[in-house]
Amino acid sequence: MKLQETAVEAYLGLGSNLGDSIATLKSACLALAAVEGIQLLAVSAFYRSRPVGPQDQPDYVNAAIRIGTKLSAEALLDALHTIENQHGRVRTQHWGPRTLDLDILLYDDQQIQTQRLRIPHPEIPFRGFVLYPLQEIAPADLHIPGLDSLRNLLASCPQDGLEKIDS
Ligand code: ATP
Ligand code: CA
Ligand code: CA
Repeated sequence: MKLQETAVEAYLGLGSNLGDSIATLKSACLALAAVEGIQLLAVSAFYRSRPVGPQDQPDYVNAAIRIGTKLSAEALLDALHTIENQHGRVRTQHWGPRTLDLDILLYDDQQIQTQRLRIPHPEIPFRGFVLYPLQEIAPADLHIPGLDSLRNLLASCPQDGLEKIDS
């Protein structure tokens, strides 16, 4: 894997609603930290949330993390897919249940629109299970490129039954 000379900061969203989701998210953090070119900088609390999309599936456990990375955004996505697959991810129904979902929320201050990647992740403004964990690990004045400040997005996003998990 080709590494860039300098690391950039990126934020990832983690989710799981099949199997032992808390153990899976912890394992995913370890797997991410072990990737050459990824440094784990901060991990939010874990949250329980209602599913988006199909409602006939278990609640999710979600978290957000901040990393430093020398991987390009594309290479980072490849690394995330590898770790999802190692944790038994099977792609069936859109927004259906999964053992592990790893999304790139933000990559540096870049806006990226390719066939494989949309960054910032377009659903950020609508997802309490992304915004609330994100605020724990991001600077107070974080700006989501092309959108708004994290503070303003939080102010207009209901918590919708989101619960912090004691762990
Ligand atoms: P959502 O993206 O709405 O949270 P999802 O996570 O369930 O839905 P997936 O099935 O995990 O969607 O991913 C489908 C595709 O989305 C991936 O193969 C990837 O190419 C693409 N994708 C686009 N932007 C991103 C991003 N910022 N992070 C992760 N995947 C992305
Ligand atoms: Ca997702
Ligand atoms: Ca995903």
